[in-house]
Amino acid sequence: MRPAGPPDQPGRIVVLTGAGLSAESGIPTFRDGDGLWERHRIEDVATPEAFDRDPALVLRFYDMRRAAAATARPNPAHAALARLSHHPGVTLITQNIDTLLDRAGARDVIHMHGRIDSALCAACGHRWTAPAAMATSDPCPACGRPATRPDIVWFGEMPYHMDRIEQALAGAQLFAAIGTSGQVYPAAGFVDLARSVGARTVELNLVPTDDARDRFDDSIAGPAGETVPAWVDGLIGPA
Ligand code: NAD
Repeated sequence: MRPAGPPDQPGRIVVLTGAGLSAESGIPTFRDGDGLWERHRIEDVATPEAFDRDPALVLRFYDMRRAAAATARPNPAHAALARLSHHPGVTLITQNIDTLLDRAGARDVIHMHGRIDSALCAACGHRWTAPAAMATSDPCPACGRPATRPDIVWFGEMPYHMDRIEQALAGAQLFAAIGTSGQVYPAAGFVDLARSVGARTVELNLVPTDDARDRFDDSIAGPAGETVPAWVDGLIGPA
């Protein structure tokens, strides 16, 4: 009989999280029926072209999201992944800009789509803590030029840290996609990269995504606040 306690060494684990992880913290998801984006066309708020056309509108949109993220609290799924992140061999990648994993205590989160609490100078690449209300005329603290923008990866831009992510996927033994619809590339293709190196793959989602059966070995359905803590306990033992 197997002794109680942490299971066998789970190996190198890569976890990709999406908007569903933060749904129970009150942050609207991207594509669900009542999602934030239902009320805003992507082309109006989340592309470089939109920012060129109407920077004030885009900055107002992200000011609102910053305020919403600041009042949200991590849920049990964030806390469980934070615990997992301190385990050797774990890489935690998020598409979420809300920083709730960091606030739950997660180590070394890869923010592939940027973070809402950060400002970026489009002129020199300097980053600093975002103000509550951002203006393009805000001077960069490093170079002084008025080229402030949210430190967010917009549609059509290259996600951050792709080298690190590809390196982690190349060594993955287990890949998990949590609360993500698998519609936004390149993140949606991570499962295929992991499979190509022989990793076992699992999806945790409120409801299985359409092609979960083809692309994942295992599928765990239910709210992340319940499924993720149980999954993490199964990997590394209860807290
Ligand atoms: P998405 O909205 O496309 O998909 C969310 C997925 O989460 C869906 O498959 C849905 O079934 C699932 N889901 C909803 N509630 C859930 C719950 N309680 N538990 C488990 N799963 C649940 O989101 P995505 O795939 O992350 O889309 C990618 C884009 O959305 C990214 O660019 C990301 O930056 C952006 N986004 C981020 C946030 C955030 O920072 N919290 C919020 C909205 C959108």
